[in-house]
Amino acid sequence: MTYASVNPYDGKTLKTFKELTDQEFEAKIAAAQACFETWRHKPYAARAIIVARAAALLHEKADEFARIMTLEMGKRIGEARGEVEFSSRILAYYAKNAEHFLAPKKLNPTVGEAHMESSPMGVIFCVEPWNFPYYQLARVAGPHLMAGNVLLVKHAGIVPQCAIAFEKLLTEAGAPAGLYTNLLISHEQSNRVVDDRRIKGIALTGSVAAGKSIAGRAGLNVKISSMELGGSDAFIVLEDADLDHAVKWAVWGRMYNTGQTCCAAKRFIVVEPLADKFLDKFRTALAALKPGDPMDEKTTLGPLSSEPALLQLVEQVNGAVSHGAKVLLGGKRIDRPGSFMEPTILTDVKPDNPAFRDEFFGPVAMFFRVKDEDAAVALANDSDFGLGGSVYTKDIARGKRLASRVDTGMMFINNIDWSDAELPFGGIKDSGYGRELGDMGIQEFVNKKLVRVASMQAPA
Ligand code: NAP
Repeated sequence: MTYASVNPYDGKTLKTFKELTDQEFEAKIAAAQACFETWRHKPYAARAIIVARAAALLHEKADEFARIMTLEMGKRIGEARGEVEFSSRILAYYAKNAEHFLAPKKLNPTVGEAHMESSPMGVIFCVEPWNFPYYQLARVAGPHLMAGNVLLVKHAGIVPQCAIAFEKLLTEAGAPAGLYTNLLISHEQSNRVVDDRRIKGIALTGSVAAGKSIAGRAGLNVKISSMELGGSDAFIVLEDADLDHAVKWAVWGRMYNTGQTCCAAKRFIVVEPLADKFLDKFRTALAALKPGDPMDEKTTLGPLSSEPALLQLVEQVNGAVSHGAKVLLGGKRIDRPGSFMEPTILTDVKPDNPAFRDEFFGPVAMFFRVKDEDAAVALANDSDFGLGGSVYTKDIARGKRLASRVDTGMMFINNIDWSDAELPFGGIKDSGYGRELGDMGIQEFVNKKLVRVASMQAPA
């Protein structure tokens, strides 16, 4: 059974869903292709009516949408509501700004005149993860639908109700049949979608393994793709940081969404003069978190998204320890029903420990003590990932200099307020390529066409 809604708070199966038959699957691809032929010609204003209506409906029904997410993947209800509201803002942002972002751009050739125009590419296939069940969908639906493309979406197997709710949202907002289609399909069927000649681009957010599989397939088909993959972001604290400010962000950066965020702070790199004080405060704050029902506003530690996710994380921690890491805090599953993990701090993770290069997708922090700023940068860059990172210092100019030296797609100074509808999001190295959100996000799947006018004679 690929698609099942299981509440990680108590392990109860809420609903299961059948995968599409090949016939249903084919009908949905055909409907998407047919829809593109009319949607591509709609003016921006007509597209914006539907996307803006979806944004408004999402805002109106924020609580209903949030509850489905909390039931299916255990996100604490306050965070879930915040994600729904943010998803609504992303849709509204593109409804408002797409036309401006995609307006023709004048060029200045030596002879005649020229411009670049941006036209839609066609049906885009999106593969999305469970950790932000609506935000991930809004991040592709807002820009790409407004650009005139049409979407087929394969969401993660553990959030089928969120996937279906978002599709229904677009339908209620007035989307024509085939504009946004949720596909309950297997990985094998996903490969067939990538191979299908009607599909013109692929956007995937997920693990490096999934990225390699789908990007490889897209490459074989010479199709454009964007890959938003994992991360192991450095959180660098310099000796002139405001310690309490940094510790608050450290706790939030590691524990938001129970640590299941691609760009979460995962490697805490603190220079020697502040290391002991930072570690003491960080450990105290993590130890104070209390597991409970994610539906209860007062809960400070929710479950992981699923039992397999918890088992994998515990195994990773055990592996790290067997290769020499020390457990300063936590390290085990919590002895209670549900898929709960103790907030954990690992120290002494040496470069020869496989954990050094791993992504811990949950409440597990790796702590490193370094001599100085140069050592912090060297350690931050000693990673296969390159998604984001942050630095804490009272000297903003110093923070900016350090940010320029870290090899990632995003750097944050004195905060890790990762995502904003206006700001491009994405990474380098094993964290993938391409950007979502902002002006850059909407440019990923448009045909940049050169049009030149010059009344000149052909050379003899
Ligand atoms: P995952 O296992 O790679 O799953 C992500 C999506 O890819 C799911 O829909 C999954 O479907 C699908 N998938 C996986 N392997 C596939 C294959 N071979 N062919 C077709 N589809 C495939 O990742 P996850 O564990 O759910 O999510 C966590 C990962 O995503 C972390 O590494 C995290 O850092 C990364 N992430 C990155 C960003 C970013 O913007 N950079 C944002 C969020 C998460 P099934 O569920 O059916 O297997």
